[in-house]
Amino acid sequence: MPTTPPPPGFATLAIHAGAAPDPATGARITPIYQTSAYVFNSVDHAASLFGLESFGNIYTRIGNPTQAVLEQRIAALEGGTAALAVASGHAAQLLVFHTLMETGDQFVAARQLYGGSVNQFNHAFKKFGWEVAWADGTDPESFERAITPKTRALFCESIANPGGVMIDIAAIGKIAKKHGLPFIVDNTLASPYLCQPKQHGADIIVHSMTKFLGGHGNSIGGVIVDCGTFDWLKAKHRYKTLVEPNPSYNGMTLGETFGNFAFAIACRVMGLRDLGPAIAPFNAFLILTGIETLPLRMEKHCANTLAVAGHLAKHPKVAWVNYAGLASNKDNAIQKRLAPKGAGAVFTFGLKGGYAAGVSLVSNVKLFSHLANIGDTRSLIIHPASTTHRQLTDAQRIAAGAGPDVVRLSIGIEDAADIIGDLDQALAG
Ligand SMILES: *Cc1c(COP(=O)(O)O)cnc(C)c1O
Repeated sequence: MPTTPPPPGFATLAIHAGAAPDPATGARITPIYQTSAYVFNSVDHAASLFGLESFGNIYTRIGNPTQAVLEQRIAALEGGTAALAVASGHAAQLLVFHTLMETGDQFVAARQLYGGSVNQFNHAFKKFGWEVAWADGTDPESFERAITPKTRALFCESIANPGGVMIDIAAIGKIAKKHGLPFIVDNTLASPYLCQPKQHGADIIVHSMTKFLGGHGNSIGGVIVDCGTFDWLKAKHRYKTLVEPNPSYNGMTLGETFGNFAFAIACRVMGLRDLGPAIAPFNAFLILTGIETLPLRMEKHCANTLAVAGHLAKHPKVAWVNYAGLASNKDNAIQKRLAPKGAGAVFTFGLKGGYAAGVSLVSNVKLFSHLANIGDTRSLIIHPASTTHRQLTDAQRIAAGAGPDVVRLSIGIEDAADIIGDLDQALAG
């Protein structure tokens, strides 16, 4: 009797999902389709593409075959119905909210967030008339208290930047469901290898692919994953982009036509088409290559980080270490439940010597690179108060986990002994 093979595992999907040898040339690796536009077979073919009656390539601002493989790969890794790759993580957030929000609408976000997202939500989004209400990611009920009749979504990071704080996304997901709101999770720091937010109630997932997905610090990219879980047609609120007849597509209602992947389609055909932050085919190619080793890299990132965090916790010049992977950490139980394979590679620690000691440490490291990025094969260091979180007020900095004594590390996949040795010599200096 024929048996159905089990579904492929994560490492297999990381290498194969979405890809096949190139039908035109047999090329085994997905080619970089470095073209702006695509020839139509006929006038009727062109009309069906423009009318969204069939899927195909029109123009690389809207889609590209290299990008399409990347999208299928990430949708498979996150368990979503579809994905949309864009120029950056910030572009992904922009298109998500552009699809959900109208002027005067509000969303609730955890205040433990990447500093750039705090700026985007507080300043850039305000110009569109989209209001953010801040909640405390470590207090799920604070999301519920911030919900008003204007609220259209809840947003948080799974492992929050810069502090490496594990957020109980399952608890926030329950609140979103109770209030009939879509739940958006930025899964950048965890990557789908460590945490799959869809299993914990996320409806939409965003990533900065610039970080662990690409993994090599060589390209900027972002992605939106549609989990296919939110019923736009039955929702309590009217999400106009999804439920109203669309005048730019002959009156088509995207939510009706595209069902459980309508959100991803709406982000592409309205957001990406009209706002324009397309990913370069070359960046899509580099990120695809990076994803092939995601499981191996994340294992090594997590093992190294546990060793470094454990070492720092015993160091005489270190006041505290906040790494959810340490058994002593307050978030260790949440990590074991939501991201059991590891707590990721980004964490913060505090120096007894405060601001001056932070500046001295980043000046003295040799193996570490002092820069504003995370999720590279290389170990990275930053002192947020003097760099990424400089624009924020003191109160905002402390709320975001970026006080004057705080140093953030993104541990690479070098030898742990060399990483620890570099920190020791720099702390001695
Ligand atoms: C870097 C980052 C972003 C922004 O992504 P870009 O690719 O830099 O635009 C958003 N969220 C998190 C958690 C990040 O680390």
